[in-house]
Amino acid sequence: MTQIADGIYQLKVPFANNPQGDINSYLLCGSKEYLLIDPGANTDTGFDSLQRQLAEIGLGFKDITRILITHCHIDHYGLAGRVKERSQAKIIAHSRAKDVIQTREPTREKGIPQREQWLKLNGAPSFEAEANHQHDPQLQKQTAEIAKLFVSMTTDITIEDNETISLGGLSLKVLWAPGHSPDHICLYEPSNKILFSGDHVLPGTIPQVSSESHSETNPLGDFISSLNRLKQLDVNLVLPAHEHQFSDLPARIEEVIQNFQQRSAKILALLNTEPKTAYQIASEIVWRPKAGGVKFQDLETWRKRMAISGALAHLKAMKFEGKVTTFFRDDIIYYRHN
Ligand SMILES: [Zn+2]
Ligand SMILES: [Zn+2]
Repeated sequence: MTQIADGIYQLKVPFANNPQGDINSYLLCGSKEYLLIDPGANTDTGFDSLQRQLAEIGLGFKDITRILITHCHIDHYGLAGRVKERSQAKIIAHSRAKDVIQTREPTREKGIPQREQWLKLNGAPSFEAEANHQHDPQLQKQTAEIAKLFVSMTTDITIEDNETISLGGLSLKVLWAPGHSPDHICLYEPSNKILFSGDHVLPGTIPQVSSESHSETNPLGDFISSLNRLKQLDVNLVLPAHEHQFSDLPARIEEVIQNFQQRSAKILALLNTEPKTAYQIASEIVWRPKAGGVKFQDLETWRKRMAISGALAHLKAMKFEGKVTTFFRDDIIYYRHN
């Protein structure tokens, strides 16, 4: 537990094997109200750790009055339902959170066949699409493990862009920042010039912008626009949901945008020779630069799917900008450089 400013604490919630590491949860204190941002994934270690850190501040779960979720990814909101049970706190999330929970719910029966169909449509060979099939024992095991990280919950209060949440002397301006997830919000606290950036801006990781189960026409375009909007804010300190706090927000935003622009240029160059599918594009790119670069063929099944989804976010953006056109061949979507 670290005190960041008057009435603002950072709580580290451990989450083993998470690609992005532990979660930074934040506690904001009003006079009699306590708001918890992103309680983390549902693990006993995480729950106990959160309880211990709250006790260091002289609080218990029962004191939490509001739980605010930056976006409905399991590492951020999996524990929200369990904390709510102990506290009767109200869960607050963006109005799009409902759609995200529905499409990401790990136990949802329709999810896996839809995923197989989606993979085939984007050019994955049958054996790989079927590795994502519901009868695959490895996938079943993985799905069951993921399901444990989430306690079922519903949101009590939905919020929209530009709304303000007040808490004692603190206030949080809601900034809808879709791209990493359609429901992602950042929160700006003007008196301390603090930005709670969630996963939208991280100091050492380029966020995944994917296009799989949501219906957005241009998630990468949304992501870049939401980044550019944040550059206008007067920010002294950025408090992200993973890794460490940092101060130079515009510089980090520039780095992230450049990273996506470089990848887009590379993808466009790969389309120079012939039209390709999202699967072909993903398989011609080296992924996971932080891990030293991994060839697509060497990625685990779920990471391959994320890679295809990541390539697709670029292709959709290029289609939106008029740089590529799509066409169907044998029920598979191809992208052609205009
Ligand atoms: Zn996330
Ligand atoms: Zn995260």
